[in-house]
Amino acid sequence: LKIQENISLKDKNWFGTGGNARYYVQPTNNEEFRESIEFSNQHKLEIFVLGSGANILVSDDGFDGLVISPSILDLEVIDDKFIRAGAGVLIDDLINFSLSNNLSGLEEFSAIPGTVGGSVYINIHYYNYLLSDFLVSARVINSKTGEIVEVDKDWLEMGYDTSKLHYREYFLLDATFQLKKVDELETAYIRGRIFEIDRHRKSKYPYKGTCGSFFRNFHEDEVNLEIGGKKAIWSAYYLDKIGVKGELSVGGARVSHQHANMLVNTDSATSSDIINLARKMQELVKDRFGIVLQPECQLVGFKDYPLYK
Ligand SMILES: Cc1cc2nc3c(=O)[nH]c(=O)nc-3n(C[C@H](O)[C@H](O)[C@H](O)COP(=O)(O)OP(=O)(O)OC[C@H]3O[C@@H](n4cnc5c(N)ncnc54)[C@H](O)[C@@H]3O)c2cc1C
Repeated sequence: LKIQENISLKDKNWFGTGGNARYYVQPTNNEEFRESIEFSNQHKLEIFVLGSGANILVSDDGFDGLVISPSILDLEVIDDKFIRAGAGVLIDDLINFSLSNNLSGLEEFSAIPGTVGGSVYINIHYYNYLLSDFLVSARVINSKTGEIVEVDKDWLEMGYDTSKLHYREYFLLDATFQLKKVDELETAYIRGRIFEIDRHRKSKYPYKGTCGSFFRNFHEDEVNLEIGGKKAIWSAYYLDKIGVKGELSVGGARVSHQHANMLVNTDSATSSDIINLARKMQELVKDRFGIVLQPECQLVGFKDYPLYK
């Protein structure tokens, strides 16, 4: 097990900002993950599990603990309808693998950057699809004892933007998805659809220097405004109303001109620039609508919570 010291996290997250990890390790199997936890126990280190860094903002001071970035890349078809995928497998690679085996279902998540681990953590979603619609079971590892447990979907408590992994008591080693068997013709059609989803996403939203949506949508009980008889829960709706899209910036960080809820590192932003921009957005929405935006993007290594609660 190769544990490295003082490793830059800047090139390991999609914002391209932030400081160093005190320790960094890439376990390639469950046993190495367990050994990594043992190392953190021996040295009394906090752990952060890193996927592809598509939904995090790392503090400019870095992370003063052990970053575990699982490189568990196993992919396996079970009983001709399930796929078990290691935590480090990229979602696009999982989709590709499933289609090579004529198994469909996950293609709606095409071009969403991220690993299986990060995607189960937040329960990735696109329009009406949630990853939890397909997940049936998983293997997780206890963050203190290193004990490995097989769990079912209910155990994972997956909801909108959430799962039990948020408690950080367990980390994901792999997940099993139930998919639908399709014939060659349907597989070819789905491949075409993936191409279209990819084109659509990349023309509609920024794809670099961002973590996707920075703020989560509101829960229904957090907002009063109704539109067409339904609660207006969409963060982007409120951000659009205050006119920040493409306009508001702090240092090298700017609100995307394509999407009011996406912050972009236009060139040389620091994580502080991004945080200060996010705080401004919170203030503007609070002043106008009386509600406080909360991040979907995971904040890593900040000593004090840097946003409004
Ligand atoms: C351009 C762009 C577009 C996006 N579009 C969408 C979208 O349409 N829908 C959507 O839902 N999301 C979207 N996102 C957000 C992002 O793609 C997802 O959140 C993705 O799942 C992040 O995966 P990751 O591997 O990069 O996780 P990371 O960013 O590395 O980590 C995110 C969180 O997951 C935790 N984590 C990672 N691996 C594990 C593990 N093995 N065990 C336990 N916890 C773990 C981390 O500790 C962290 O808290 C987008 C992001 C970008 C940059």
